[in-house]
Amino acid sequence: MRKLFFYFLSGFMLIAYSSCNQNNSSSDDGISSFTKDGLAQHIKMLSSDSFQGRKPFSPGEIKTLDYIQTAFKNMGLEPGNGNSYLQDVPMVEITPNADAVMKVQSAKGNFELKKMTDFVISTENTDSLISLNNDELIFAGYGVVAPEYNWNDYAGIDVKGKVVLVLVNDPGFGVDTTIFKGNTMTYYGRWTYKYEEAARQGAKACLIIHDTKAASYPFSVVQNSWGSSNLHLNKQGNKEPHLALQGWVSADAAKKLFTAAGKDTSLIVSANKNTFKAISFGEKISLNVKVKANYNTSHNVIAKITGSKRPDEFVIYTAHWDHLGIGKPDDKGDSIYNGAIDNASGAAALLEIAKAFKNLKHKPERTVIFLSVTAEEQGLLGSAYYAQHPIYPLTKTVADINMDGINPAEKTNDVVITGAGQNDLEDYIAAIAKSQGRYLAPEAHPEAGHYYRSDHFSLAKVGVPALDCSGGIDVVGKGKEYGKKLEDDYTANRYHRPADQFDAKWTFEGGLQDMQMLFLIGKKLANETSWPKWKAGSEFKAIREKDKSVME
Ligand SMILES: [Zn+2]
Repeated sequence: MRKLFFYFLSGFMLIAYSSCNQNNSSSDDGISSFTKDGLAQHIKMLSSDSFQGRKPFSPGEIKTLDYIQTAFKNMGLEPGNGNSYLQDVPMVEITPNADAVMKVQSAKGNFELKKMTDFVISTENTDSLISLNNDELIFAGYGVVAPEYNWNDYAGIDVKGKVVLVLVNDPGFGVDTTIFKGNTMTYYGRWTYKYEEAARQGAKACLIIHDTKAASYPFSVVQNSWGSSNLHLNKQGNKEPHLALQGWVSADAAKKLFTAAGKDTSLIVSANKNTFKAISFGEKISLNVKVKANYNTSHNVIAKITGSKRPDEFVIYTAHWDHLGIGKPDDKGDSIYNGAIDNASGAAALLEIAKAFKNLKHKPERTVIFLSVTAEEQGLLGSAYYAQHPIYPLTKTVADINMDGINPAEKTNDVVITGAGQNDLEDYIAAIAKSQGRYLAPEAHPEAGHYYRSDHFSLAKVGVPALDCSGGIDVVGKGKEYGKKLEDDYTANRYHRPADQFDAKWTFEGGLQDMQMLFLIGKKLANETSWPKWKAGSEFKAIREKDKSVME
């Protein structure tokens, strides 16, 4: 899901670089195993039109699974799930069909909010009809319960069976940078957290107020993502609390709800203080949603190299294989979302890193797992399923290194860690980057919460130290302005569009540099005996340390 930066490069640069792609390292360091052709071949195939955009359950899934499994087999990797290279991921496709309007009763009169224009609704519930019937609306500020920040938006109010209205991002966003992590979004700021917390509080439904800055994307993204059917993990039999309905309201619709309750923006400002108290708006909400549910099974692909000395300790590499499939045609009439960068490139890099490990003269001492997950684009589902149904004990899993988008263009002087400040893996990367003559640069948009937006997060959420990092925008010999242009071009013209397709002009010099870095960190982790930790202030530290069986 995360955006990656670089795109094209002239043929001239390609020639200039290919001549300096030599290195004088010894044969067993694994580094010489990485080649442009090896990587490019995999990306070209996985992103070809015949793979139809690699959507789960499509013929593209079958082709993709077959390709990745065959590659693992041919390399001589062991199957990662007993005798199989596959892990079943039971999912359900849920299509909610809401009434055209949401009815709101208030003391100042009744009014309606329009579906799509004013609100979008979704559900993880498979009941055929879900209704809100004059259910009370509560404004719960940011909807956050964070003991470590002395924060509880639900203190002193009972929201059981009610509809909760909350703000997106962290308390203090854009108002007070001294609370939470300032401009860096914590997990408390993500929409997924808002729904999870509202469910824990017993709410019936949760509506998030959209704000382009705070969400880091426009309302149209919400409309496109939640407007129709969505895949979810099949939670039948799961006892965890869940909402009947979840959704978003536009900023304009929120204004109507505030005004009818006699409130204005001063209430939103007050939500940025820990003295804030959730309040009832005195409004009643009604809405019917018909639900269609289709059950199906997708798959993660998993292979391993058993460790020579500590086979019961694990280092995981993750990269999602799925993309968006066939969808709305672009203005050239192309409807196949090839996902070459997102994430054929990461899946290809996973294969190349596996090959580098396999080619080592001395086997890694810990077991190294290569996990290509499904349905990242639908909400990190394949990785979430692995985290909830781990094949190898999480307490014996040292780290996860994730790849979502590999730089197809030039080398960079900088390395950017997604969501910096989380765990010790960042210090490993700092040292490796330095050995490559590179430096660590801050994330361009820490407020966007990218740490919570790809598969490493699924492992982080269950306590496994997880890392996502890649080259930045400081392109060698060309500088940051040039790099920024490439990044902006990718974001505007290719990211999640049919135009994210293979380009023969790509040199992958930067991608190879990043893959070597990610291989080296995995190799170090696989051959050492220490256990990287979460840093103080990380939301995931307590989860890891709660489990006393994690080795020190
Ligand atoms: Zn992705």
